[in-house]
Amino acid sequence: MVPDNKALLRAAEPLIELAIREDIGPGDATGEAVLPAEQRLHGQVMAKAAGVVAGLPVMEAVFHRVDPAILFTALVDDGQEIVPGEIVAEVRGPARSLLAAERTALNFLQRMSGIATLTRQYVDAVAGTQAAILDTRKTAPGFRVLDKYAVRMGGGRNHREGLYDMILIKDNHIEAAEGIVPAIRLARALHPELPIEVEVKNLRELREALSAEPALDRIMLDNMDLRTMREAVALTARRVELEASGGVTLESVGAIASTGVDCISVGALTHSVRALDLSLDVLGKGTRGLATRSRKQAERVRGIKEVLGRRLVILGHHYQRDEVIALADYRGDSYQLAHEGAQTDAEYIVFCGVHFMAETAAILAGPGQRVLMPDPTAGCYLADTADLEDVEQAWARLDSVLGGVEEQVTPVTYVNSTAALKAFCGRHRGIVCTSSSAERAIRWALAQRPRVFFFPDQHLGRNTAHRMGIALEDMLLWDRRLLPSSEAILRAKVVLWPGACNVHQRFLPESVAAVRERFPGIRVLVHPECRMEVVELADDAGSTSYIIQQVQAAPPGTRWAIGTESHLVQRLQREHPEQQIVSLAGVPPFCRTMAQTTLGNLTLVLEALAAGTVTNEVVVDGETARWAKVALERMLRV
Ligand code: SF4
Repeated sequence: MVPDNKALLRAAEPLIELAIREDIGPGDATGEAVLPAEQRLHGQVMAKAAGVVAGLPVMEAVFHRVDPAILFTALVDDGQEIVPGEIVAEVRGPARSLLAAERTALNFLQRMSGIATLTRQYVDAVAGTQAAILDTRKTAPGFRVLDKYAVRMGGGRNHREGLYDMILIKDNHIEAAEGIVPAIRLARALHPELPIEVEVKNLRELREALSAEPALDRIMLDNMDLRTMREAVALTARRVELEASGGVTLESVGAIASTGVDCISVGALTHSVRALDLSLDVLGKGTRGLATRSRKQAERVRGIKEVLGRRLVILGHHYQRDEVIALADYRGDSYQLAHEGAQTDAEYIVFCGVHFMAETAAILAGPGQRVLMPDPTAGCYLADTADLEDVEQAWARLDSVLGGVEEQVTPVTYVNSTAALKAFCGRHRGIVCTSSSAERAIRWALAQRPRVFFFPDQHLGRNTAHRMGIALEDMLLWDRRLLPSSEAILRAKVVLWPGACNVHQRFLPESVAAVRERFPGIRVLVHPECRMEVVELADDAGSTSYIIQQVQAAPPGTRWAIGTESHLVQRLQREHPEQQIVSLAGVPPFCRTMAQTTLGNLTLVLEALAAGTVTNEVVVDGETARWAKVALERMLRV
């Protein structure tokens, strides 16, 4: 799935040579002394910390450079998020070679994964805004291509490669040319083929840069405070792309993104690298290691299912790993699964999904049913964006502007939200919706009161309201930092909470253009949690179940680019070999929290159950459950 391995490996080759020369030199003295020449080993590259993996092709190249007899198998793709204990690759081969290559191979992988992990943290911190995260030239000397590749795997975008592929006019150039416009003129005269960016320090310089004809490709706002940046965004009015730069940190990047700039460059991505903790664990000779352990765990789970019989039901969300799905009694969307669980007479409902899903199952569960999760810390990035305290503050602000919010606004929450938010909607005569019932819910809500407050997914709310014919000017994106003005509130028909799913919003309009160019005639099918620009460019959009149904019903030979979570896309690829299915993104996005459920923690929770102990139970308090159920039942009635 890695789109640009060739360029990466070309750049990595001399670095690998150098690294092997400095580490192994004429030979591994200890290995040669202690390990028999004929001994073979099997090792696993394991994550010790959560992060984003990058550099697996480079790691493979190191092992092959040391000994072509080493067999390297990557178990995840670059760009995927990994959790502690996850096995990212397996290696088998001569013991001396494996151990000699180990350190060098890990050094590359750990550094690149560290960059990808930090980049993903920045990308997540600006989720819900339009800002992209850019790297800089502050890379380790010689590692430019590798470092920038890792940034892309983390979800960031690359700035210029070097001094040769873009004109970037900074203060020294401006001074030498005696002004911004003369500097641009000189640059254009010599390099008309190159894009041009100009750095400005204040609004006066910005106005001068904006006066350039033809317009510049990008303007860099250097070290501006938030207020000036906001003014710069208003002044530019989207005529030129704006880049924020200077002293950006993880703490400040969200506020910078909310000013409306198009991109933010972050030197720290590559100049302050913290290696991701990964290790190579040797399993010994001849053992089949991972496969054996997984098989044993799966057998154990099947055994416990047999013993507990109808007392146990395992629910598996579509985005779960294959080995977990294979053991589930039901697979489906979140609400569908919670409903199925409650329909059974099982005493124990084990929900392989994320926390809000298990909460919904607990709310719908019948008397005596208990809901458990293999990993109860598996949350949902989208659901967590709408904290009840923030929601209540927003509600109070609406009340103060509209004078009687209860008569003016109907709250609607997507099922991907906490039980507390569902209960809030129940208490305030609101409703819950799924991605397929969002339109019905908004229609119902507008029939009750003139305005809707849609939580927590701005994209689902915007896509649905737009499809219903509600103009974008009648929608207000709530801003938690700077509460919206009275005029903006009074104008709004639909207020959108600024949450977003960090998986679905990784699909970008350029991915649609790229996939259509690569595969003429391809049908682009996306989830409505994707950005509106992506949904508009797609051929069709619908819930996870809708996506599956479309693929199942399509004639053989249909080409699909699917914009949803990578586990589901990969499963569709395997289950429908008669069709040509690709992910809409070059690096298919993967839900980190969904992947926290593993065969290992599923086995543990079931083993405890078999021994008579209920662990990891998800309980929703009675009052919250009562009101949440009110909002859920309204959904079923509309
Ligand atoms: S895919 Fe998105 S909405 Fe679903 S659990 Fe993951 S973060 Fe939440």
